[in-house]
Amino acid sequence: MSASVTQQLNDFGSPDVLILGAGLAGLAAAVSAAQLGARVLILEKRDIIGGSTAMSSGLTAYSGTEEQLAMGIHDNLDSLKEDILATGQHKNDPALVDVYCREQLDTYNWLRSLGVQFGHVHAASGQSVPRSHSTDPSRMVETLLARALELGAVLLLDVRALELMVRDGDVVGATVEIHGAMHEIEAGSVVLATGGFSQNVELLERFAPHMVHAVRGGAPGSEGDGLLMGWRIGADFKDMPYVKGTYGIYPHPDPRESGTGILAVYKGAIAINSHGDRYTNEEKPYKELGDDCLHQPGHMTWQVFDETVMEKDDPSVEIYWFSGRAATGLLEVAQTLDELAEKINVPADRLKASIEKYNAACRGEAPDEFGRTRLSGNVGTPTPIDTPPYYAHLSTASVLATYCGLTIDTEAHVQNVYGEEIPGLFAAGEVTGGFHGAGYVTGTSVGKSGLFGRIAGVSATRHALDRQANAHV
Ligand SMILES: Cc1cc2nc3c(=O)[nH]c(=O)nc-3n(C[C@H](O)[C@H](O)[C@H](O)COP(=O)(O)OP(=O)(O)OC[C@H]3O[C@@H](n4cnc5c(N)ncnc54)[C@H](O)[C@@H]3O)c2cc1C
Repeated sequence: MSASVTQQLNDFGSPDVLILGAGLAGLAAAVSAAQLGARVLILEKRDIIGGSTAMSSGLTAYSGTEEQLAMGIHDNLDSLKEDILATGQHKNDPALVDVYCREQLDTYNWLRSLGVQFGHVHAASGQSVPRSHSTDPSRMVETLLARALELGAVLLLDVRALELMVRDGDVVGATVEIHGAMHEIEAGSVVLATGGFSQNVELLERFAPHMVHAVRGGAPGSEGDGLLMGWRIGADFKDMPYVKGTYGIYPHPDPRESGTGILAVYKGAIAINSHGDRYTNEEKPYKELGDDCLHQPGHMTWQVFDETVMEKDDPSVEIYWFSGRAATGLLEVAQTLDELAEKINVPADRLKASIEKYNAACRGEAPDEFGRTRLSGNVGTPTPIDTPPYYAHLSTASVLATYCGLTIDTEAHVQNVYGEEIPGLFAAGEVTGGFHGAGYVTGTSVGKSGLFGRIAGVSATRHALDRQANAHV
């Protein structure tokens, strides 16, 4: 096996563009580079492609799409931009946000032209109007890989990049490990698409000590390799203080937890702590709900809802697939609130008082004690929790993705700590920082991985071809 990978590497020779990581960002970069005629080599350290992308809910934030129009959703770029900046508390790099807004519809059309299919549009965290386009993320990465291979790209699995090779200040390749042996691969340019660091305990302790009680939920390959490789040669970082956990994940290591959790709160559930009390406005972005949950006793709370919410069940979107949770036994179900309180071990009188107060606000009899007026963001109207059966889902926060990292410019060049380009080095996807700022809008991590991956492929190809041209002058 190791001999055959090494043989393939030798046979391929030096690529124009060397892509590290075969998640969405890497594969989008591979396709866009190969479309421009570059010889592309993709290295993936695991024995499967997809990374966190393949594990994700696949929700992708686009504005002005056919799917939105078909559902009567009127959207515009000013609102998209304002939502991303407001959720990011204006800590975002506005130039990256502008690129996202400018390129997102074109990227959506490009992905569709490659065979990626988008479905129903959902409202979610940080969105004034529904923008989360559902897709099957595993199928998306397989589709992109197929296109890249058709265009002549080569993928090698089980090859881990360890270090960037630098000559006269330029990144000219990477040192990689293949079954314990080191190899140097020279390339015209390198794209870091290695994902985040949600599985690297030391990096999390260093950059996100506030997440100590959260579950770690990204793909096993999300160990911060790209961040470390860039750091070693002087790359700058952005958004490091803002790592957050997503609310709604079943807290114990349990094979029934797919990793996405559920967000019944966005369909009308309330969040209840172990005292039987509400403690937050459930329409908030789920990262903020994650923070709020981690401050509650035991760092876990219950999403409590009724049959009205259960009827909004959507098996095509993991986070809204409530019946799936019921089928696997992750939901407590009861015909009365007393019975539910007993099952989830909270005081029945407090639970009933919390729900009665909430229901009164839903009926317009009093303002909601936490100011809730919507289901999520600016969308939907809360409904009373009064139709049995009643349900409860134990939930905590999970660091699914890290949303911060290497500083890039609008063309995906990695920048050093002095704000200068590191020649030959490009990055896209979760390994990068700057775009989200202090908060993440649902669908923008998959969104930015495809969008900036595509840009990185173009920029890396240009760089490699320029370098070749200059070498021949
Ligand atoms: C459960 C879950 C649900 C999510 N849901 C959503 C959602 O609905 N919408 C959304 O926008 N975001 C979501 N996210 C976040 C989003 O999926 C990711 O941020 C995004 O897909 C990252 O894409 P990427 O290509 O940058 O990284 P990845 O998809 O993680 O790919 C990186 C690849 O690089 C490989 N790699 C790492 N180091 C090396 C190395 N040294 N050498 C070679 N290869 C290497 C990894 O093994 C991996 O295959 C979710 C995340 C999780 C875990």
